[in-house]
Amino acid sequence: MPSLPRPTFSREVSLPARTGTVAAETDVLVVGGGPAGLGAALGAAQAGAHVVLAERYGFLGGNATVALVMPWMSFHTRRPRPPRLGDTSLMPSDHGEGEPVVAGKHIEVIERLIADGGARPPSPETGYTVPFDPEVFKVTALDLLDDAGVDYLMHAFASGVVDDAGRIAVVFETKSGPLVIRAEVVVDGTGDGDVAAAAGADYEVGRDDGLVQPMTLMFRMAGFGHAEFAQYVSDNPDQWRSVHGLWDLVAKATEAGELDLPREDILFFATPHEGEIAVNSTRVTNVLGIDTWDLTMAEAVSRHQVRQIEAFLRRYVPGFERSYVVDTGTAIGVRETRRVVGKYQLTGDDILQARKFDDVIARGTYPVDIHNPEGKGTVLRSVPPDEAYDIPLRCLQPQGADRVLTAGRCISGTHEAHSSYRVTPTAMATGQAAGVCATLALRQGVAPRSVDVRAVQHELVRQGANLRDVV
Ligand SMILES: Cc1cc2nc3c(=O)[nH]c(=O)nc-3n(C[C@H](O)[C@H](O)[C@H](O)COP(=O)(O)OP(=O)(O)OC[C@H]3O[C@@H](n4cnc5c(N)ncnc54)[C@H](O)[C@@H]3O)c2cc1C
Repeated sequence: MPSLPRPTFSREVSLPARTGTVAAETDVLVVGGGPAGLGAALGAAQAGAHVVLAERYGFLGGNATVALVMPWMSFHTRRPRPPRLGDTSLMPSDHGEGEPVVAGKHIEVIERLIADGGARPPSPETGYTVPFDPEVFKVTALDLLDDAGVDYLMHAFASGVVDDAGRIAVVFETKSGPLVIRAEVVVDGTGDGDVAAAAGADYEVGRDDGLVQPMTLMFRMAGFGHAEFAQYVSDNPDQWRSVHGLWDLVAKATEAGELDLPREDILFFATPHEGEIAVNSTRVTNVLGIDTWDLTMAEAVSRHQVRQIEAFLRRYVPGFERSYVVDTGTAIGVRETRRVVGKYQLTGDDILQARKFDDVIARGTYPVDIHNPEGKGTVLRSVPPDEAYDIPLRCLQPQGADRVLTAGRCISGTHEAHSSYRVTPTAMATGQAAGVCATLALRQGVAPRSVDVRAVQHELVRQGANLRDVV
Protein backbone atom coordinates (compact mmCIF):
# COMPACT_ATOMS: atom_id res chain seq x y z
CA MET A 1 0.00 0.00 0.00
CA PRO A 2 1.83 3.22 -1.11
CA SER A 3 0.62 5.44 1.73
CA LEU A 4 3.18 7.59 3.56
CA PRO A 5 5.09 5.21 5.84
CA ARG A 6 5.19 5.74 9.58
CA PRO A 7 8.59 7.28 10.46
CA THR A 8 10.92 4.66 11.91
CA PHE A 9 12.74 7.14 14.14
CA SER A 10 11.67 10.31 15.84
CA ARG A 11 12.92 13.58 14.33
CA GLU A 12 11.25 16.72 15.59
CA VAL A 13 11.14 20.34 14.48
CA SER A 14 10.41 23.21 16.89
CA LEU A 15 7.30 25.16 15.92
CA PRO A 16 7.03 28.91 16.41
CA ALA A 17 4.98 30.18 19.38
CA ARG A 18 1.69 31.65 18.17
CA THR A 19 -1.42 33.46 19.28
CA GLY A 20 -5.03 32.62 18.49
CA THR A 21 -8.03 34.84 17.84
CA VAL A 22 -10.73 34.59 20.51
CA ALA A 23 -13.77 33.53 18.49
CA ALA A 24 -16.23 33.32 21.37
CA GLU A 25 -16.74 33.42 25.12
CA THR A 26 -19.49 31.17 26.35
CA ASP A 27 -20.96 29.33 29.33
CA VAL A 28 -20.75 25.87 27.81
CA LEU A 29 -18.61 24.83 24.86
CA VAL A 30 -19.51 21.52 23.25
CA VAL A 31 -16.80 20.04 21.05
CA GLY A 32 -18.09 17.55 18.49
CA GLY A 33 -21.44 17.59 16.70
CA GLY A 34 -22.22 13.87 16.87
CA PRO A 35 -25.15 12.33 18.77
CA ALA A 36 -23.49 13.08 22.11
CA GLY A 37 -22.53 16.65 21.20
CA LEU A 38 -26.01 17.38 19.88
CA GLY A 39 -27.59 15.98 23.06
CA ALA A 40 -25.19 18.06 25.16
CA ALA A 41 -25.81 21.30 23.28
CA LEU A 42 -29.61 20.89 23.36
CA GLY A 43 -29.61 19.85 27.05
CA ALA A 44 -27.36 22.74 28.12
CA ALA A 45 -29.36 25.29 26.12
CA GLN A 46 -32.66 24.14 27.61
CA ALA A 47 -31.14 24.31 31.09
CA GLY A 48 -30.41 27.99 30.39
CA ALA A 49 -26.76 28.18 29.29
CA HIS A 50 -25.29 30.08 26.40
CA VAL A 51 -23.86 27.30 24.25
CA VAL A 52 -21.35 27.13 21.42
CA LEU A 53 -20.87 23.86 19.53
CA ALA A 54 -17.74 23.35 17.41
CA GLU A 55 -17.34 20.56 14.86
CA ARG A 56 -14.44 19.53 12.63
CA TYR A 57 -16.55 18.65 9.56
CA GLY A 58 -18.92 20.89 7.58
CA PHE A 59 -22.05 19.14 8.87
CA LEU A 60 -23.43 17.64 12.06
CA GLY A 61 -24.36 14.10 13.09
CA GLY A 62 -21.03 12.42 13.90
CA ASN A 63 -20.80 8.76 12.96
CA ALA A 64 -24.50 8.81 11.99
CA THR A 65 -23.77 11.08 9.02
CA VAL A 66 -19.96 11.13 8.66
CA ALA A 67 -19.73 7.34 8.61
CA LEU A 68 -23.31 6.54 7.43
CA VAL A 69 -23.85 4.55 10.64
CA MET A 70 -27.45 3.42 10.67
CA PRO A 71 -29.95 2.58 11.98
CA TRP A 72 -30.33 4.15 15.43
CA MET A 73 -30.16 0.99 17.54
CA SER A 74 -33.10 -0.09 19.67
CA PHE A 75 -33.44 1.69 23.01
CA HIS A 76 -36.10 -0.68 24.28
CA THR A 77 -35.74 -3.53 26.74
CA ARG A 78 -35.41 -7.01 25.33
CA ARG A 79 -38.24 -9.51 25.19
CA PRO A 80 -36.74 -12.96 24.67
CA ARG A 81 -37.65 -14.69 21.47
CA PRO A 82 -35.91 -17.56 19.63
CA PRO A 83 -33.57 -16.44 16.85
CA ARG A 84 -35.42 -16.22 13.56
CA LEU A 85 -33.46 -17.96 10.85
CA GLY A 86 -34.47 -16.81 7.43
CA ASP A 87 -36.09 -13.55 8.57
CA THR A 88 -35.84 -11.09 5.68
CA SER A 89 -37.02 -8.02 7.60
CA LEU A 90 -33.46 -6.55 7.42
CA MET A 91 -33.96 -5.41 11.02
CA PRO A 92 -32.48 -6.91 14.20
CA SER A 93 -34.84 -9.46 15.73
CA ASP A 94 -33.20 -10.37 19.01
CA HIS A 95 -33.39 -7.19 21.01
CA GLY A 96 -35.97 -4.44 21.54
CA GLU A 97 -39.71 -5.03 21.76
CA GLY A 98 -40.03 -4.09 25.47
CA GLU A 99 -40.18 -0.67 27.17
CA PRO A 100 -38.26 2.33 25.79
CA VAL A 101 -35.61 3.46 28.30
CA VAL A 102 -34.04 6.43 26.51
CA ALA A 103 -36.15 9.56 26.09
CA GLY A 104 -35.49 13.31 26.36
CA LYS A 105 -33.53 14.95 23.53
CA HIS A 106 -33.08 11.61 21.81
CA ILE A 107 -36.85 11.31 21.30
CA GLU A 108 -37.15 14.98 20.30
CA VAL A 109 -34.53 14.41 17.60
CA ILE A 110 -36.24 11.26 16.31
CA GLU A 111 -39.66 12.96 16.26
CA ARG A 112 -38.25 15.90 14.35
CA LEU A 113 -36.51 13.58 11.90
CA ILE A 114 -39.74 11.68 11.32
CA ALA A 115 -41.63 14.96 10.81
CA ASP A 116 -38.95 15.99 8.28
CA GLY A 117 -39.52 12.73 6.38
CA GLY A 118 -36.09 11.40 7.36
CA ALA A 119 -36.82 8.41 9.59
CA ARG A 120 -39.21 5.59 10.35
CA PRO A 121 -40.52 5.33 13.92
CA PRO A 122 -39.42 2.35 16.02
CA SER A 123 -41.98 -0.46 15.73
CA PRO A 124 -42.09 -4.25 15.46
CA GLU A 125 -41.60 -3.72 11.73
CA THR A 126 -38.28 -1.91 12.21
CA GLY A 127 -37.10 -4.26 14.97
CA TYR A 128 -37.51 -1.20 17.25
CA THR A 129 -34.56 0.46 15.55
CA VAL A 130 -34.89 3.82 13.80
CA PRO A 131 -33.88 3.68 10.13
CA PHE A 132 -33.03 7.22 9.03
CA ASP A 133 -31.74 9.20 6.08
CA PRO A 134 -28.38 10.81 6.92
CA GLU A 135 -28.93 13.68 4.45
CA VAL A 136 -32.17 14.66 6.18
CA PHE A 137 -30.50 14.28 9.58
CA LYS A 138 -27.81 16.82 8.62
CA VAL A 139 -30.45 19.52 8.09
CA THR A 140 -32.67 18.47 11.00
CA ALA A 141 -29.68 18.76 13.33
CA LEU A 142 -29.03 22.33 12.13
CA ASP A 143 -32.69 23.26 12.66
CA LEU A 144 -32.67 21.82 16.17
CA LEU A 145 -29.60 23.86 17.13
CA ASP A 146 -31.08 27.00 15.57
CA ASP A 147 -34.35 26.54 17.46
CA ALA A 148 -32.46 26.02 20.72
CA GLY A 149 -30.35 29.15 20.16
CA VAL A 150 -27.06 27.24 20.04
CA ASP A 151 -24.26 28.99 18.15
CA TYR A 152 -22.11 26.67 16.07
CA LEU A 153 -18.79 26.76 14.28
CA MET A 154 -17.86 24.19 11.67
CA HIS A 155 -14.57 23.26 10.03
CA ALA A 156 -12.96 23.73 13.44
CA PHE A 157 -10.70 20.96 14.73
CA ALA A 158 -9.94 21.13 18.47
CA SER A 159 -6.19 20.71 18.86
CA GLY A 160 -5.41 21.88 22.37
CA VAL A 161 -6.58 23.26 25.68
CA VAL A 162 -5.23 26.24 27.59
CA ASP A 163 -5.97 27.11 31.20
CA ASP A 164 -7.17 30.69 30.86
CA ALA A 165 -7.49 32.75 34.06
CA GLY A 166 -9.97 30.46 35.75
CA ARG A 167 -11.74 29.54 32.54
CA ILE A 168 -10.89 26.88 29.99
CA ALA A 169 -9.90 27.82 26.46
CA VAL A 170 -9.97 25.35 23.57
CA VAL A 171 -7.79 25.96 20.53
CA PHE A 172 -9.20 25.16 17.08
CA GLU A 173 -7.29 24.76 13.82
CA THR A 174 -9.28 26.47 11.08
CA LYS A 175 -8.89 27.93 7.60
CA SER A 176 -8.96 31.32 9.37
CA GLY A 177 -5.95 30.39 11.47
CA PRO A 178 -5.97 29.31 15.12
CA LEU A 179 -9.18 30.26 16.93
CA VAL A 180 -9.80 30.09 20.66
CA ILE A 181 -13.14 29.61 22.38
CA ARG A 182 -13.24 30.42 26.10
CA ALA A 183 -15.80 28.68 28.29
CA GLU A 184 -16.74 27.96 31.88
CA VAL A 185 -17.17 24.26 31.12
CA VAL A 186 -16.40 22.14 28.06
CA VAL A 187 -18.31 19.01 27.09
CA ASP A 188 -16.07 16.62 25.17
CA GLY A 189 -18.29 15.06 22.50
CA THR A 190 -15.43 14.19 20.15
CA GLY A 191 -15.95 10.45 20.61
CA ASP A 192 -12.17 10.20 20.96
CA GLY A 193 -11.83 12.21 24.18
CA ASP A 194 -9.56 14.67 22.35
CA VAL A 195 -10.36 17.61 24.63
CA ALA A 196 -10.30 15.68 27.90
CA ALA A 197 -6.94 14.14 26.97
CA ALA A 198 -5.52 17.54 26.01
CA ALA A 199 -6.75 18.92 29.35
CA GLY A 200 -4.78 16.25 31.19
CA ALA A 201 -7.48 13.67 31.97
CA ASP A 202 -6.51 10.04 32.43
CA TYR A 203 -7.72 7.66 29.75
CA GLU A 204 -7.54 4.04 28.66
CA VAL A 205 -7.47 2.51 25.21
CA GLY A 206 -8.69 -0.94 24.19
CA ARG A 207 -8.79 -4.21 26.06
CA ASP A 208 -5.88 -5.58 28.14
CA ASP A 209 -3.62 -5.96 25.08
CA GLY A 210 -4.52 -2.44 23.85
CA LEU A 211 -6.48 -3.65 20.81
CA VAL A 212 -9.77 -1.87 20.04
CA GLN A 213 -12.81 -2.84 18.00
CA PRO A 214 -12.23 -2.75 14.23
CA MET A 215 -13.11 0.17 11.98
CA THR A 216 -15.80 -0.12 9.30
CA LEU A 217 -16.46 2.00 6.23
CA MET A 218 -20.21 1.79 5.73
CA PHE A 219 -21.94 2.32 2.40
CA ARG A 220 -25.40 2.49 0.90
CA MET A 221 -26.53 0.42 -2.07
CA ALA A 222 -29.50 1.24 -4.27
CA GLY A 223 -31.24 -0.98 -6.81
CA PHE A 224 -31.71 -3.79 -4.24
CA GLY A 225 -34.49 -6.27 -5.05
CA HIS A 226 -35.96 -7.22 -1.68
CA ALA A 227 -38.46 -9.69 -3.19
CA GLU A 228 -35.75 -11.67 -5.02
CA PHE A 229 -33.57 -11.63 -1.90
CA ALA A 230 -36.50 -12.82 0.23
CA GLN A 231 -37.02 -15.70 -2.21
CA TYR A 232 -33.36 -16.71 -1.86
CA VAL A 233 -33.66 -16.62 1.94
CA SER A 234 -36.87 -18.62 1.85
CA ASP A 235 -35.10 -21.26 -0.29
CA ASN A 236 -32.04 -21.19 2.01
CA PRO A 237 -33.44 -20.45 5.48
CA ASP A 238 -30.16 -21.37 7.23
CA GLN A 239 -28.31 -18.62 5.32
CA TRP A 240 -29.81 -15.45 6.79
CA ARG A 241 -30.63 -14.42 10.32
CA SER A 242 -32.37 -11.09 10.66
CA VAL A 243 -29.66 -8.71 9.40
CA HIS A 244 -26.69 -10.91 8.63
CA GLY A 245 -25.61 -14.16 7.02
CA LEU A 246 -24.82 -15.40 3.49
CA TRP A 247 -22.22 -17.64 5.11
CA ASP A 248 -22.04 -20.23 2.30
CA LEU A 249 -21.83 -17.62 -0.45
CA VAL A 250 -19.15 -15.71 1.45
CA ALA A 251 -17.18 -18.96 1.86
CA LYS A 252 -17.59 -19.77 -1.85
CA ALA A 253 -16.44 -16.32 -2.98
CA THR A 254 -13.55 -16.43 -0.52
CA GLU A 255 -12.45 -19.81 -1.87
CA ALA A 256 -12.66 -18.43 -5.40
CA GLY A 257 -10.34 -15.57 -4.36
CA GLU A 258 -13.05 -12.95 -4.99
CA LEU A 259 -13.55 -11.92 -1.37
CA ASP A 260 -10.89 -11.34 1.24
CA LEU A 261 -12.55 -10.07 4.42
CA PRO A 262 -11.69 -10.59 8.10
CA ARG A 263 -15.33 -11.53 8.73
CA GLU A 264 -17.38 -14.57 7.90
CA ASP A 265 -20.68 -13.00 6.88
CA ILE A 266 -22.35 -9.93 5.41
CA LEU A 267 -24.32 -7.52 7.61
CA PHE A 268 -26.79 -5.01 6.23
CA PHE A 269 -29.78 -2.97 7.36
CA ALA A 270 -32.88 -1.46 5.83
CA THR A 271 -33.01 2.31 5.36
CA PRO A 272 -36.23 4.36 5.11
CA HIS A 273 -36.05 4.04 1.32
CA GLU A 274 -37.37 1.24 -0.90
CA GLY A 275 -34.69 -0.70 -2.74
CA GLU A 276 -31.87 0.68 -0.58
CA ILE A 277 -29.72 -0.92 2.14
CA ALA A 278 -26.90 0.19 4.41
CA VAL A 279 -24.00 -2.26 4.41
CA ASN A 280 -21.89 -2.70 7.54
CA SER A 281 -19.46 -5.35 6.31
CA THR A 282 -16.01 -3.91 5.76
CA ARG A 283 -13.67 -4.60 8.67
CA VAL A 284 -10.18 -3.27 9.35
CA THR A 285 -8.52 -4.75 12.42
CA ASN A 286 -5.43 -3.79 14.45
CA VAL A 287 -5.94 -0.07 13.83
CA LEU A 288 -6.56 2.85 16.16
CA GLY A 289 -8.71 5.88 15.32
CA ILE A 290 -6.38 8.35 17.05
CA ASP A 291 -3.41 7.32 14.90
CA THR A 292 -3.13 9.11 11.55
CA TRP A 293 -1.12 6.35 9.87
CA ASP A 294 -3.65 3.73 10.97
CA LEU A 295 -6.54 5.91 9.78
CA THR A 296 -4.90 6.42 6.38
CA MET A 297 -4.31 2.70 5.95
CA ALA A 298 -7.83 1.85 7.15
CA GLU A 299 -9.46 4.28 4.70
CA ALA A 300 -7.55 2.71 1.80
CA VAL A 301 -8.08 -0.92 2.84
CA SER A 302 -11.79 -0.45 3.52
CA ARG A 303 -12.42 1.28 0.18
CA HIS A 304 -10.95 -1.75 -1.60
CA GLN A 305 -13.19 -3.95 0.55
CA VAL A 306 -16.24 -1.92 -0.54
CA ARG A 307 -15.40 -2.64 -4.16
CA GLN A 308 -15.03 -6.37 -3.43
CA ILE A 309 -18.29 -6.56 -1.46
CA GLU A 310 -20.23 -4.72 -4.16
CA ALA A 311 -18.91 -7.14 -6.81
CA PHE A 312 -19.64 -10.12 -4.54
CA LEU A 313 -23.23 -9.07 -3.88
CA ARG A 314 -23.94 -8.40 -7.55
CA ARG A 315 -22.40 -11.67 -8.72
CA TYR A 316 -23.47 -14.10 -5.98
CA VAL A 317 -26.58 -12.84 -4.19
CA PRO A 318 -30.07 -12.87 -5.73
CA GLY A 319 -31.70 -9.45 -5.56
CA PHE A 320 -28.41 -7.58 -6.00
CA GLU A 321 -27.87 -8.07 -9.73
CA ARG A 322 -28.73 -4.44 -10.57
CA SER A 323 -27.60 -2.89 -7.30
CA TYR A 324 -24.81 -0.33 -6.99
CA VAL A 325 -23.01 1.72 -4.32
CA VAL A 326 -24.59 5.19 -4.05
CA ASP A 327 -22.32 6.53 -1.35
CA THR A 328 -19.74 5.62 1.25
CA GLY A 329 -19.00 7.36 4.55
CA THR A 330 -17.14 10.68 4.34
CA ALA A 331 -14.74 8.96 6.72
CA ILE A 332 -14.36 5.45 8.01
CA GLY A 333 -16.44 4.62 11.10
CA VAL A 334 -14.41 4.45 14.29
CA ARG A 335 -16.01 2.36 17.03
CA GLU A 336 -13.54 2.72 19.87
CA THR A 337 -10.63 4.92 20.90
CA ARG A 338 -10.01 6.66 24.26
CA ARG A 339 -12.20 5.93 27.25
CA VAL A 340 -11.64 8.84 29.61
CA VAL A 341 -11.33 7.57 33.19
CA GLY A 342 -13.95 9.14 35.42
CA LYS A 343 -14.95 8.96 39.06
CA TYR A 344 -16.52 5.60 38.18
CA GLN A 345 -15.80 3.12 35.39
CA LEU A 346 -18.86 1.27 34.13
CA THR A 347 -18.12 -2.46 33.70
CA GLY A 348 -19.42 -5.28 31.54
CA ASP A 349 -20.80 -6.81 34.70
CA ASP A 350 -22.80 -3.63 35.44
CA ILE A 351 -24.37 -3.97 32.01
CA LEU A 352 -25.05 -7.69 32.08
CA GLN A 353 -26.48 -7.48 35.62
CA ALA A 354 -28.53 -4.37 34.68
CA ARG A 355 -27.03 -2.63 37.72
CA LYS A 356 -28.72 0.46 39.21
CA PHE A 357 -26.95 3.54 40.63
CA ASP A 358 -28.28 6.38 42.80
CA ASP A 359 -26.63 8.94 40.53
CA VAL A 360 -28.17 7.56 37.32
CA ILE A 361 -28.26 10.13 34.51
CA ALA A 362 -28.92 7.83 31.52
CA ARG A 363 -29.95 4.26 30.83
CA GLY A 364 -29.07 1.62 28.25
CA THR A 365 -30.31 -1.74 26.99
CA TYR A 366 -28.07 -2.47 24.04
CA PRO A 367 -26.05 -5.71 24.37
CA VAL A 368 -22.32 -6.03 24.89
CA ASP A 369 -21.39 -6.13 21.18
CA ILE A 370 -17.68 -6.61 20.46
CA HIS A 371 -16.60 -6.98 16.84
CA ASN A 372 -13.42 -9.02 17.09
CA PRO A 373 -10.42 -6.62 17.23
CA GLU A 374 -8.28 -9.32 15.57
CA GLY A 375 -10.42 -10.83 12.81
CA LYS A 376 -13.54 -12.92 12.38
CA GLY A 377 -16.34 -13.20 14.92
CA THR A 378 -18.48 -10.93 17.11
CA VAL A 379 -19.28 -11.33 20.82
CA LEU A 380 -22.93 -10.52 21.64
CA ARG A 381 -24.12 -10.74 25.25
CA SER A 382 -27.54 -9.38 26.14
CA VAL A 383 -28.87 -7.35 29.05
CA PRO A 384 -31.42 -9.50 30.97
CA PRO A 385 -34.97 -9.53 29.55
CA ASP A 386 -37.15 -6.53 30.47
CA GLU A 387 -34.16 -4.86 32.13
CA ALA A 388 -31.94 -1.84 31.56
CA TYR A 389 -28.68 -0.68 33.13
CA ASP A 390 -27.96 2.73 34.67
CA ILE A 391 -25.11 5.03 33.72
CA PRO A 392 -23.98 7.07 36.73
CA LEU A 393 -23.05 10.76 36.50
CA ARG A 394 -19.58 9.80 37.78
CA CYS A 395 -18.81 8.19 34.37
CA LEU A 396 -19.01 11.68 32.80
CA GLN A 397 -16.72 13.35 35.36
CA PRO A 398 -13.09 12.81 34.33
CA GLN A 399 -10.18 12.40 36.70
CA GLY A 400 -7.58 15.10 36.20
CA ALA A 401 -9.52 17.66 34.14
CA ASP A 402 -11.51 20.14 36.22
CA ARG A 403 -13.67 21.98 33.71
CA VAL A 404 -14.36 19.12 31.33
CA LEU A 405 -17.21 16.61 31.13
CA THR A 406 -17.30 13.69 28.73
CA ALA A 407 -20.27 12.48 26.69
CA GLY A 408 -20.97 9.66 24.25
CA ARG A 409 -18.52 6.95 23.39
CA CYS A 410 -15.56 8.45 25.32
CA ILE A 411 -17.17 8.30 28.80
CA SER A 412 -15.66 6.20 31.57
CA GLY A 413 -16.06 2.45 31.24
CA THR A 414 -14.25 -0.75 30.42
CA HIS A 415 -13.74 -2.08 26.89
CA GLU A 416 -16.66 -4.45 27.43
CA ALA A 417 -19.04 -1.81 28.82
CA HIS A 418 -18.09 0.61 26.04
CA SER A 419 -19.25 -1.89 23.43
CA SER A 420 -22.79 -1.40 24.75
CA TYR A 421 -23.08 2.29 25.70
CA ARG A 422 -21.40 3.46 22.46
CA VAL A 423 -24.64 3.26 20.42
CA THR A 424 -26.45 6.37 19.20
CA PRO A 425 -29.42 6.54 21.63
CA THR A 426 -27.24 6.08 24.74
CA ALA A 427 -24.62 8.50 23.41
CA MET A 428 -27.29 11.15 22.98
CA ALA A 429 -28.58 10.51 26.52
CA THR A 430 -25.15 10.87 28.14
CA GLY A 431 -24.68 13.99 26.01
CA GLN A 432 -27.87 15.56 27.33
CA ALA A 433 -26.78 14.72 30.88
CA ALA A 434 -23.33 16.27 30.36
CA GLY A 435 -24.91 19.46 28.97
CA VAL A 436 -27.26 19.73 31.95
CA CYS A 437 -24.48 18.97 34.43
CA ALA A 438 -22.24 21.64 32.85
CA THR A 439 -24.99 24.25 33.11
CA LEU A 440 -25.91 23.41 36.70
CA ALA A 441 -22.24 23.43 37.78
CA LEU A 442 -22.07 26.96 36.45
CA ARG A 443 -25.26 27.97 38.22
CA GLN A 444 -24.13 26.38 41.49
CA GLY A 445 -20.66 27.94 41.17
CA VAL A 446 -18.89 24.60 41.55
CA ALA A 447 -16.65 22.40 39.43
CA PRO A 448 -18.61 19.90 37.29
CA ARG A 449 -17.31 17.03 39.40
CA SER A 450 -18.89 18.57 42.56
CA VAL A 451 -22.31 19.34 41.15
CA ASP A 452 -25.44 18.42 43.11
CA VAL A 453 -26.52 15.16 41.45
CA ARG A 454 -30.17 15.49 42.49
CA ALA A 455 -30.40 18.86 40.76
CA VAL A 456 -29.02 17.33 37.56
CA GLN A 457 -31.52 14.48 37.77
CA HIS A 458 -34.43 16.88 38.39
CA GLU A 459 -33.49 19.00 35.38
CA LEU A 460 -33.07 15.93 33.18
CA VAL A 461 -36.49 14.64 34.17
CA ARG A 462 -37.93 18.12 33.55
CA GLN A 463 -36.42 17.86 30.06
CA GLY A 464 -38.17 14.52 29.51
CA ALA A 465 -35.30 12.11 30.23
CA ASN A 466 -36.15 8.62 31.44
CA LEU A 467 -34.34 8.00 34.75
CA ARG A 468 -36.77 5.28 35.93
CA ASP A 469 -38.25 6.48 39.27
CA VAL A 470 -35.13 7.99 40.81
CA VAL A 471 -36.55 11.50 41.35
C1 LIG B 1 -19.15 1.10 11.82
C2 LIG B 1 -20.03 1.45 12.98
C3 LIG B 1 -21.29 0.90 13.06
C4 LIG B 1 -22.13 1.25 14.11
N1 LIG B 1 -23.41 0.78 14.10
C5 LIG B 1 -24.32 1.38 14.90
C6 LIG B 1 -25.70 1.17 14.70
O1 LIG B 1 -26.09 0.43 13.79
N2 LIG B 1 -26.57 1.81 15.51
C7 LIG B 1 -26.16 2.63 16.53
O2 LIG B 1 -27.00 3.18 17.24
N3 LIG B 1 -24.84 2.85 16.74
C8 LIG B 1 -23.92 2.27 15.94
N4 LIG B 1 -22.59 2.56 16.09
C9 LIG B 1 -22.15 3.38 17.22
C10 LIG B 1 -22.42 4.87 17.04
O3 LIG B 1 -22.39 5.24 15.70
C11 LIG B 1 -21.37 5.77 17.70
O4 LIG B 1 -20.71 5.17 18.73
C12 LIG B 1 -22.01 7.09 18.10
O5 LIG B 1 -22.11 7.86 16.94
C13 LIG B 1 -21.23 7.79 19.19
O6 LIG B 1 -21.61 9.14 19.25
P1 LIG B 1 -20.58 10.26 19.73
O7 LIG B 1 -21.29 11.54 19.56
O8 LIG B 1 -20.05 9.88 21.06
O9 LIG B 1 -19.33 10.16 18.75
P2 LIG B 1 -19.24 10.39 17.19
O10 LIG B 1 -20.46 9.94 16.50
O11 LIG B 1 -17.94 9.81 16.79
O12 LIG B 1 -19.18 11.99 17.03
C14 LIG B 1 -18.03 12.73 17.36
C15 LIG B 1 -18.09 14.07 16.65
O13 LIG B 1 -16.99 14.88 17.08
C16 LIG B 1 -16.29 15.40 15.95
N5 LIG B 1 -14.89 15.53 16.35
C17 LIG B 1 -14.02 14.52 16.65
N6 LIG B 1 -12.84 15.02 17.03
C18 LIG B 1 -12.96 16.37 16.95
C19 LIG B 1 -12.05 17.43 17.22
N7 LIG B 1 -10.81 17.21 17.68
N8 LIG B 1 -12.48 18.70 17.04
C20 LIG B 1 -13.76 18.95 16.59
N9 LIG B 1 -14.65 17.96 16.32
C21 LIG B 1 -14.25 16.69 16.51
C22 LIG B 1 -16.52 14.37 14.87
O14 LIG B 1 -16.33 14.92 13.58
C23 LIG B 1 -17.96 13.94 15.14
O15 LIG B 1 -18.89 14.78 14.52
C24 LIG B 1 -21.69 2.17 15.10
C25 LIG B 1 -20.41 2.72 15.02
C26 LIG B 1 -19.59 2.38 13.96
C27 LIG B 1 -18.24 3.01 13.86
